Amino acid sequence: MKNKLVVRGRNVLKRNALRFAAALLAALASFVGGPNAALAQAPQHHDQVPGFYRLKVGDLEVTALFDGFAVFDPHWLNGTKATMDGVVKELHEDPHMLEASVTGFLVNTGKQLILVDAGAGTWYGGGALGRLAGSLRSAGYTPEEVDIVLVTHLHSDHVGGLTTQDGRRVFPNADVYVAKAESDFWLSPEIAAKAPKDAQPFFQSAQAIAAPYIKAGKWHTFSGSEPIVDGMQLVPLPGHTPGHTGYQFTSKGQKILFCGDIVHAQRVQLQHPEVTAIFDIDQTAAAATRNQLLARLAREDVLIAAPHTSLFPALGRLRKDGSGYSWVPVVFTDRWDENAPSPQK
Ligand SMILES: [Zn+2]
Repeated sequence: MKNKLVVRGRNVLKRNALRFAAALLAALASFVGGPNAALAQAPQHHDQVPGFYRLKVGDLEVTALFDGFAVFDPHWLNGTKATMDGVVKELHEDPHMLEASVTGFLVNTGKQLILVDAGAGTWYGGGALGRLAGSLRSAGYTPEEVDIVLVTHLHSDHVGGLTTQDGRRVFPNADVYVAKAESDFWLSPEIAAKAPKDAQPFFQSAQAIAAPYIKAGKWHTFSGSEPIVDGMQLVPLPGHTPGHTGYQFTSKGQKILFCGDIVHAQRVQLQHPEVTAIFDIDQTAAAATRNQLLARLAREDVLIAAPHTSLFPALGRLRKDGSGYSWVPVVFTDRWDENAPSPQK
């Protein structure tokens, strides 16, 4: 019996060895037939994986939605001569240091689907932006499902995705909320008429983007601190624009702040929070707001959703680092819910 098993075992081994040799010969035959020709026939693919990343904050599901990327021009920054000389020198060594993402964020509270900022759509910067609605679909949602859009400010890289060029609402069932100071400023024909020529496109786009929501009775403004949804706190962050507002959500003791344009050039302004951008309407207020907020965020354990960080998904935390701060990005994981079992197990 024992010997029979040994013989059978040997036969199996022999059979497997023969099969392996045959497979090897077949592979060699195709290799001799021209491996390079076969490789060259495979087309190159230019798309990345779908642009979303989700994680849990308490009971909230937060999904970062990639809208595209942009490159910040060093001439758009205002700092001391010494700081700006340093930026130019660093840029020479690392030409990619001012590359930035444009990102919107979706919060599923379990009761409502809330979008915070909507990306650029077709209103800003051409072909590299405007992918947010596609990213939202890739993440398993449809624009029709969005109940609420919270807008940090009315620059077109944050609200362009709300409306098509022919005036159609991309989120037909959503109520849009924006600070009254913000809405009053950008939608005022009087202020627009007095604005410098360079700023005119910002007024025109804000008015065109808001128009169909106003017409449908879905454009809402707020001026107090009354939360719009449960578990959310308004965080006024004036300076970049008159009604620039952050939205902080808390669930089960965990916090996330959607901070809008508190930082444009991450690699410069975290080390030098006093450096402003030419798009900051009140430069002094913008620098003061950033100084205060960054100090608080480094002290508290708050997850930060910052639309223009250089690394998608634009989610991370701050740590004090010398006289400035460093960015600690979230680490990619397929475990979107830390309490759920790993998909591998
Ligand atoms: Zn922006």
